[in-house]
Amino acid sequence: MIKLAVLGSPIAHSVSPLIHGIFAEMTGLQVDYGRILVEGDFVTTVKEFFASGGSGCNITVPCKIDACHFADQLTDAARIAQAVNTLKFCPQEGEHPAFFLGDNTDGAGLLSDLMRLDCPLAGAHILLLGAGGAARGIVPPLMAPDVGVASITVVNRTKDKAVALVNDMMPYREQVGSNTVLNAVSFEELASAPSQVFNVMLNATSLSLKHELPSLSDELLSRAAFVYDLFYTLNGKTVFTEKAAALGVPSCHDGLGMLVGQAALSFKLWTGKSPDLGAALELVRTRLSQQH
Ligand code: NDP
Repeated sequence: MIKLAVLGSPIAHSVSPLIHGIFAEMTGLQVDYGRILVEGDFVTTVKEFFASGGSGCNITVPCKIDACHFADQLTDAARIAQAVNTLKFCPQEGEHPAFFLGDNTDGAGLLSDLMRLDCPLAGAHILLLGAGGAARGIVPPLMAPDVGVASITVVNRTKDKAVALVNDMMPYREQVGSNTVLNAVSFEELASAPSQVFNVMLNATSLSLKHELPSLSDELLSRAAFVYDLFYTLNGKTVFTEKAAALGVPSCHDGLGMLVGQAALSFKLWTGKSPDLGAALELVRTRLSQQH
């Protein structure tokens, strides 16, 4: 039995146990995946989990930065995002002592879903709405040279946070030899350049949670070919994707595929097995709607 869990607060709503249960069924592994509410100190809670035989865990809001400090080693993705959503216990091997590895699978999870959906990323001009934790995680994989994105423009209500995000990504951009141009703008600046075209739009704001829309003109939104909202719903439609679809955007998607994609990468880190994404997503959506 492989003991896994998700840690955070609140945690009762988490669908990670459902997703990892489906992965276990698909791969034939025996998995016990629990939810752990972090009420006090994160380090105490996570140490208790690993002391009880845990092999790995997911970390969700608001503990991703604490988990980043807790890990002994970080993957590139976690180091750049400065946030950890996956911890793995790596036992002692020969002279190498045991350690905790911290990873961030959010960005690669989104990228795997964009590829599954045939998102036109090569040569794309991407508008990324939002500059919070999720936006930070998704920029690095989108800048990879083999993905071929032409530009990423980050627009945020608080422009300073978009500027900080872009500045923080510059060393990595250089390190990987990326040609993707990064820009940071405010919504007002975006509105003052109405002829711009972004063929891909990614909504990483938390607005859809409140059924609110970002202040984008209909003209700008209608010129997109592909729209993706990181927020997810039972029926796959969010207020943002519905608005884009009504304006004629041909390809509009919610973020459930990203959630399943990031979970699949965590599962692979812990077990070495990769469940089929499309089949897992279909099962997750069916079971979620049966639960409601
Ligand atoms: P954060 O709280 O870190 O960031 C929230 C972002 O939304 C900020 O850019 C913030 O702007 C912006 N925002 C909030 N309110 C407004 C508003 N009224 N007007 C304009 N902008 C606003 O959240 P996360 O980055 O963690 O999450 C963002 C979204 O991504 C959520 O919907 C979350 O559910 C989703 N998500 C999905 C995942 C998946 O696997 N599908 C994984 C992770 C997140 P400002 O900086 O100005 O405050």
